[in-house]
Amino acid sequence: MSDCIFCKIVAGDIPSKKLYEDDRVLAFYDIEPKTPVHFLVITKDHIKGALEISEENSRLVAHIFEVIAKLAAELELGAFRVVTNNGPDAGQTVFHLHFHVLSGGVLGEMA
Ligand code: AMP
Ligand code: ZN
Repeated sequence: MSDCIFCKIVAGDIPSKKLYEDDRVLAFYDIEPKTPVHFLVITKDHIKGALEISEENSRLVAHIFEVIAKLAAELELGAFRVVTNNGPDAGQTVFHLHFHVLSGGVLGEMA
């Protein structure tokens, strides 16, 4: 999608601090980290958000969680939180499916 910032990152038109990439997903550090370690795992395909997850594409989400587990082990995160915001009222600002991985220090309670 031409006006999507994450599609531009996937295409290499906008630089990112990449952690992992394969044919389906990309992981890179968040530009405005909310915790000492904060990266995003996104689909390479443009999927608007969690509401668009379906029987046809849900294997991608399973793959994203495999990648999160691999990166969490490699980075020795120990405790971490995975978040996806769906819709502006939930804090979604980029409308391309992504999972935040937040770690470092004590995260405190949420949900
Ligand atoms: P959300 O608000 O849940 O849609 O998450 C979007 C996230 O993307 C925010 O945490 C932003 O800081 C992050 N972000 C926006 N632009 C970039 C960028 N160019 N590189 C890395 N992270 C970005
Ligand atoms: Zn996109």
